[in-house]
Amino acid sequence: MIAPRVQEAAVRLPRLPAYVYDLPTLDAHVAAVRRALGATELYYAVKANPDAGLLRVLAGHVDGFEVSSAGEHAHVTGLFPGMPVALGGPGKTDAELRLPHHRLHVESPYELRRLLDTGLEADVLLRLNPGLPVEGAALTMGGPFGMDAAGVAECLPLFTDRVRLRGLHAHLASGLSAPQLLGLAEALLGDGAYEEVNLGGGMAVSYASPGERFDWAAYGAGLDALRRGRLLRVEPGRALTAYCGSYVTRVVDVKRVHGQAYAVVLGGTHHLRTPVTKGHDQPFVVLPTGAGPGVTDEPVTVVGQLCTPKDVFARNIGTSVRVGDTVVFAMAGAYAWNISHHDFLMHPKPAFHHLTS
Ligand SMILES: *Cc1c(COP(=O)(O)O)cnc(C)c1O
Repeated sequence: MIAPRVQEAAVRLPRLPAYVYDLPTLDAHVAAVRRALGATELYYAVKANPDAGLLRVLAGHVDGFEVSSAGEHAHVTGLFPGMPVALGGPGKTDAELRLPHHRLHVESPYELRRLLDTGLEADVLLRLNPGLPVEGAALTMGGPFGMDAAGVAECLPLFTDRVRLRGLHAHLASGLSAPQLLGLAEALLGDGAYEEVNLGGGMAVSYASPGERFDWAAYGAGLDALRRGRLLRVEPGRALTAYCGSYVTRVVDVKRVHGQAYAVVLGGTHHLRTPVTKGHDQPFVVLPTGAGPGVTDEPVTVVGQLCTPKDVFARNIGTSVRVGDTVVFAMAGAYAWNISHHDFLMHPKPAFHHLTS
C-alpha cells in the first residue's frame, strides 16, 4: 500500500506532519492511464490537487488541464504556457469568461449570452445535465450543474462564427466503475449529434481497498467502441493523483477511554480532510519508530490534535501502535491538503516533500 521509498523517507523526515509525494509512482500510473485511453484525450482536473510538482509530472502525459477558476487558470498557464486549458465551473465571472482557453465549458444560456457580450472568440462545450439516473455514485453532479435539454436548445441558435459550438461536456458523478461510466457514455453519445464530447471525470478510487484500481484498459476499449469518429475527452482528478500522496505524522499519545483505544497523532484532519468529507477510514501503516506506551493488536481509533470529535482519520482499525511511532496515511494525493481547513486551531502547517527517485 505504501511504496518502500515512501516508508524509507517517512522515518527520516526532520519535521512532522509532512506530505510526501511519490513522483515516480505518479509518472508510471499516468503513463499507464494514457496508454489505456488510446485515442481518447486525457485532461487532468486541477482541483483534485494543484501541487506544481505533481502538475509537472502530469504535463508530460496529459493532453491538457481542466481548470475551474481564474486562480487555477493563472497557476496552470503560468507553469505551462501553451498547454491546452479547458475552463469550466459554475458562476464564472466576466473576468473568467475573458480568459484564453482551448475549450470553455458553458454552464447556462445566460452565461453564453454574457460570453457573447465580451465580443471575444471562444470555443465552447455546452455542459449538459441530462438527469440520467446514476446508480452507486459517491457524489452525483446533478442539481445546479450545467443545463438540461431545454437549456441546450436555448443556446444552440446563439452561436456565431466567433463563439463556436464544439460539442458537449458532461461530468455526471464521481466514484464510478468503468462499466458504470461506459453505460453513461453510451446513453450520452447515443444520437451522435456532437463531434466532440468531454465525458468528465469521476473514476472510482476505493479507500477501503487501496490495491484496487479503476479498470482503465476496459474503459479505453469501451470508449473506442463508442467513438464512431468523434473526439472524446475525459478529465479525471482523483483517480490520477490520489495514490501518489501520503500524509506522514507521529503518535503523541496512546490511551484507553471507556474501553476504546485511541492513538493521537500530530496534525489532524485540518491537514487531511478526506476521511471526514468522504466518511471513510483513511488507510494507513504504522512504522515502529516509537518506544513509548502503546497497545498491541487491537482495534484503535486514530485521531488528530483538533478539539472536535470529528477529527478522526480511521475508526477501530486492528493494529499495534505506541507513542513515537510514525503513521503514514496512504491515498492522500487528491482532495486532501487543498480541501482542508488549514487554519482551524492554528497548528503549524505540514512540510511538503517530493520524492523523485
Ligand atoms: C471535479 C471535477 C472533475 C474531476 O472529478 P474526479 O472525481 O476527481 O475525477 C472533472 N470535471 C469536472 C467538471 C469536475 O467538477
